[in-house]
Amino acid sequence: MEKRNLRVVKWLGTTPAVGVCTFCDRLFNVPMTALKKVSDAQESLRVQFTEHKCKRPDAS
Ligand SMILES: [Zn+2]
Repeated sequence: MEKRNLRVVKWLGTTPAVGVCTFCDRLFNVPMTALKKVSDAQESLRVQFTEHKCKRPDAS
């Protein structure tokens, strides 16, 4: 079972701008259009995080 979390690594004021998956270190960038509203930015990150597939370089 995968255990992964989304962590915000870059903020623009109170708006999350860049998130990272703690499992595979994949970065997620919030598009400019979603940065205008905190809720849009959060939703964008959440959707990207939920839909990505973790890739581990050392997966066997
Ligand atoms: Zn991941």
